[in-house]
Amino acid sequence: MNRLWQKLALNFVAVAIAVTIVALLAVNLSYESRFKSYVKERQAINNHRIIQTITNIYEVHGSWSEELTDLLPQLGVMSGVSLKVLDLDRNIVAETSSEIESMMMGENAKVAGETAVIPIVNGADRVGDVYITPLGDIYGVPGEDIRFRESINRLLLLGGGLAAIVGLLLSYFISTRMTSPLERMTEAAKKIEAGDYSERVEVTSKDEIGDLAYAFNHLAVTLERQEDLRRNLTADISHELRTPLASIRSHVEAYIDGVMEPTTENIRSIHEETMRLSRLVEDLGELARLESDKVNIVKTKIDLNEVAGKVVFNLKPLFEEKDVKIELSKVSEPLYVKADADKIYQILFNLLHNALKFTSLGGKAEVRLEKNGKNALVYIEDNGIGIDLEEHSSIFERFYRVEKSRNRSSGGAGIGLTVVKELVDIHKGKISVDSELGKGTEFKIVMPLFT
Ligand code: ADP
Repeated sequence: MNRLWQKLALNFVAVAIAVTIVALLAVNLSYESRFKSYVKERQAINNHRIIQTITNIYEVHGSWSEELTDLLPQLGVMSGVSLKVLDLDRNIVAETSSEIESMMMGENAKVAGETAVIPIVNGADRVGDVYITPLGDIYGVPGEDIRFRESINRLLLLGGGLAAIVGLLLSYFISTRMTSPLERMTEAAKKIEAGDYSERVEVTSKDEIGDLAYAFNHLAVTLERQEDLRRNLTADISHELRTPLASIRSHVEAYIDGVMEPTTENIRSIHEETMRLSRLVEDLGELARLESDKVNIVKTKIDLNEVAGKVVFNLKPLFEEKDVKIELSKVSEPLYVKADADKIYQILFNLLHNALKFTSLGGKAEVRLEKNGKNALVYIEDNGIGIDLEEHSSIFERFYRVEKSRNRSSGGAGIGLTVVKELVDIHKGKISVDSELGKGTEFKIVMPLFT
C-alpha cells in the first residue's frame, strides 16, 4: 500500500462499505419497527372481529352451539389465525384444525406469534375464552412483505458494491492527476541532486500542488545561485591567494638566488602582500564569526548620533589621507534605538569604508541621521564611482563583487555588505541602496526607534 492511489482507494471503499452498512441498518430497523406496529394493529382489529363474531353466535343461541364448531375453521383461515374456544369449565367448545390450516394456507400455516387469551362476554357475564394464535410468516406478515424487504437489501448491497467500484476508479484517476506533477518534481529533484541546477518544473495549478511547484522552483533558483556563489568564492579565494603568494614567492626566490637585495623597500612590498592575505583571511573569519555572533547580540539603548560620531572620528585620518571630505550631520536630539553598539559601529564602519574605497581623490562622503515618525534613518552617501542598477539587488550577497577587476586593487572579497545586511536584519531594520554609475551611492538604513 505504498502508492497514493491505493491509499485513496482504500478510503473510498471504506466509505462505501460504511455507507452501505448504515443504510442497511437504517432501512431494516425502521422497516422492522413500523412493521411490528402495523402487525399489532392488524391483529387487534382481527381479534376484535373474531370476538364479535363468536359473541354474536352465542347471543343468537343463548348458549354455545354447533354453529360455532362449523364456522370456526373458516373464521380462522380467513383471519390467518388458529382459534380455540373454551367454556367456563375449561371444556373445548370449538377449535380450528391444523390439517385444514396447512391445506388452506400452505407455507403460511406456521405459528407466528404469541397466543392471546380473550374472554367472551354475553351481556355482563363472561361465558368463556377464546385463544387466538397468529399464523403466517414472521409476525404473521405474508411472504410478499418480507420479499420486498429482501429486495431492498439486495439493492442496497448492489449500490454499495457499485459505489466501491466507482470509488476505486475515481481514486485511480484522481491520484494520477494529483501525482503526475509530484512525479515530475521528484524527477527534477533527482536531476538537481545530480548537479543540474537549471532544472525547473511547470506550475500548472493554483492549488497546494501549484504552491509546492512554485516553492520547488524557488528552491532550485536559490540552490543554483548558492552554487554559483560557491564556485565564484572558490575562484575568488584561489585568485586572491595566488597573486600575493606568487609575488611573495618570486621576491623570496630572488633574495635566495641573490638576484635581488632584501632592502627595506623590497621587504615592504612583501609586507603589503601579506597584509592583503591577512585582510582576506580576516574577511572570511568575519563572515564565520557573524554566523556564531547572531546568537550573541547584546541589545541596549544606544544613541545613533554617538555611534556615528565615533565611526566618523575613527575613519577621518584615512579619508584625509586620500583627500576625500567626510561630513556628519546629526539629529539635534538623541536618536535612541535598541541595539548592540558594537554591531551598529560595524555596520556604519563597513559602509563608510566602502564609500572611501570607491570614491576617488577630491570626492566627498556624508553620514546623515534623521528621525521619521517611529523610525531612525541613517544615510551614508558618497559621490564615488556608483553601482549599476542591475547590480543593486546582488551587492548584499555573499562574495558578490561588482566587476571583479575593479575591486582587486581595493582588496575586498565581497563580504562587507553581506555582514552589514545580516546585522541590520538582526536589528529588525531595513537597508536599501540608491546608486548611479559615475555619480555616487547612497545607502539608507531604517531602524525602529527605542520606545
Ligand atoms: P567588498 O569587500 O568587495 O568591498 P562589499 O560587500 O563591501 O564587498 O561590497 C560589494 C560590492 O558593492 C563591491 O564589490 C563594490 O563594487 C560595491 N560597492 C559597495 N559599496 C560601494 C560604494 N559606496 N560605491 C560603489 N560601489 C560600492
